[in-house]
Amino acid sequence: MKTPEGNPKDHSIAEFENSLTGTCLCGSIRVTIHDRDLFTRRRGHLCHCSNCRKVAGSFVAANLIIEEEKVTIEDTKGTLKTYNDHDTLSGNPVFRSFCSIDGNPIKSETPLSPGKVILKMGIFPRIPEPEMEGFALHAHPWETRLEGTIKYKLARGGEKLEE
Ligand SMILES: [Zn+2]
Ligand SMILES: [Zn+2]
Repeated sequence: MKTPEGNPKDHSIAEFENSLTGTCLCGSIRVTIHDRDLFTRRRGHLCHCSNCRKVAGSFVAANLIIEEEKVTIEDTKGTLKTYNDHDTLSGNPVFRSFCSIDGNPIKSETPLSPGKVILKMGIFPRIPEPEMEGFALHAHPWETRLEGTIKYKLARGGEKLEE
């Protein structure tokens, strides 16, 4: 049996001082984030909205909104496909890109955040401690409440959940 990989605690933060790289499950798509402050403070947001949950195949999605020039995406076998999600709460389309071989979510883009990409963090060996949570009202009743995140009832930037 192979030694299982994927324990985030095996990767010290120093390893990602200059960049953080992850791949989709089949390995054809490589995403690298070039940002020296990825782990120096809380970054990214968890989203409990129903669309993110579907795409993540989970009860929450781990996302990072970041300037597109800080991200390199290598689509080595041309497997990156994009779904135009028009059925969003804001009414703005979300372009959701994924690997068409393994279905791994890679990124989203929306006209609401020009010049930025929303990376799906599940592909990375270690995910920074999240700063915010969107759609916190839509979290499942059995979820453990995270300490120290800014929790928005619905969309980020809107009304905050009372602690
Ligand atoms: Zn793949
Ligand atoms: Zn969402």
